[in-house]
Amino acid sequence: MRTSSLPLPANVKRLKPYASARSLLKGDEWIFMDANESPSAPPFFRNNCSALNRYPDPTADKLRDAIAASYGVGRENIVIGNGSDELIDLSIRSFVRKGRRILSVAPTYGMYRVSAETNGAAYGTVPLGKNGDIKIRSFLRRTKNADLLFLCSPNNPTGTVIGLPAVKRVLDAFPGIVVVDEAYGEFADASNIPSAITLVHEGKKNLIVLRTFSKAFAAAGIRLGYGIAAQEIIETLLKMKSPYNVNSLTQEIGLRLWGDSDRMRCNVRTLVAERERLMRALGKLGCRAYPSVTNFFLIDLPKGNDAEETYMNLRNNNGIVLRLIEWQNKKMLRITVGTRRENDLLLSALTTLL
Ligand code: PMP
Repeated sequence: MRTSSLPLPANVKRLKPYASARSLLKGDEWIFMDANESPSAPPFFRNNCSALNRYPDPTADKLRDAIAASYGVGRENIVIGNGSDELIDLSIRSFVRKGRRILSVAPTYGMYRVSAETNGAAYGTVPLGKNGDIKIRSFLRRTKNADLLFLCSPNNPTGTVIGLPAVKRVLDAFPGIVVVDEAYGEFADASNIPSAITLVHEGKKNLIVLRTFSKAFAAAGIRLGYGIAAQEIIETLLKMKSPYNVNSLTQEIGLRLWGDSDRMRCNVRTLVAERERLMRALGKLGCRAYPSVTNFFLIDLPKGNDAEETYMNLRNNNGIVLRLIEWQNKKMLRITVGTRRENDLLLSALTTLL
């Protein structure tokens, strides 16, 4: 492995990664007697899936190749993770030096703060504007002593997009690593909103774009996410991840899901149509829905209704669980678009409550 030109933590720079035969010798032609696995599988495994008595491909190369081909990049530009949550944690462990900081916006996805804190890194945020827009100049002013920035686009929980010109300005001005979390990117793709993946194409060296199978692909249970970045970044992430982070079943299912992207796009269309229907119906009930390009959106309740009380009522009396969000010093509700039936149940419960 080459020495990296990235500003890496000293332990990362020094690290000699774990070496397994599975990462050096790929393919089925080997008689593996090196990793203390069982040589035979229980009958249940044999009938249902590939060699589960063996460790999985450490880097999930079939999946990397399939994803790389779709985006017109190389395998060396892709890392596969146990959900994008793993890649969030991995980015912090790989790129944040001792005593340095992580910066993001507020409100945003809660795991950035949690992962920062579990890794002992300081975490700061800059408030988003009223419409969910990022104030680039004040954001950049706060990047002093930061090694890593998280930009979530479309952003959870606001549902709003951070435009590519803003991302570019941050990438050009900030010397550390910028993670653009596109967990809801397929919903943005459906509205022809450009993805930061185009900036990896353009050769940006300090950018990691994260995507996941948990949202549009409807596969949160298999735990599968991926990152797209310049080769040097991917090499560092591969070196730092645990050896067998994505299990064989997930790699297999992920490959099948990737091959059926029409189905994913169909799911996106259905959820977007339901989102619009829900928003219109909630508008008639006096709620204010915040614009969103994702499969969730925020609402303010009509005057005289308390968000927390409504949340508890829905939960305890109707068994419907929404998410309470605090933004702009007020509490609001975040609704994840459900099935048509679930959405109807929510609407009828709110018709009674409001
Ligand atoms: N990023 C964002 C913005 C999310 O909302 C979520 C899930 N709530 C994740 C990442 C984590 O996704 P995964 O299931 O791939 O770990």
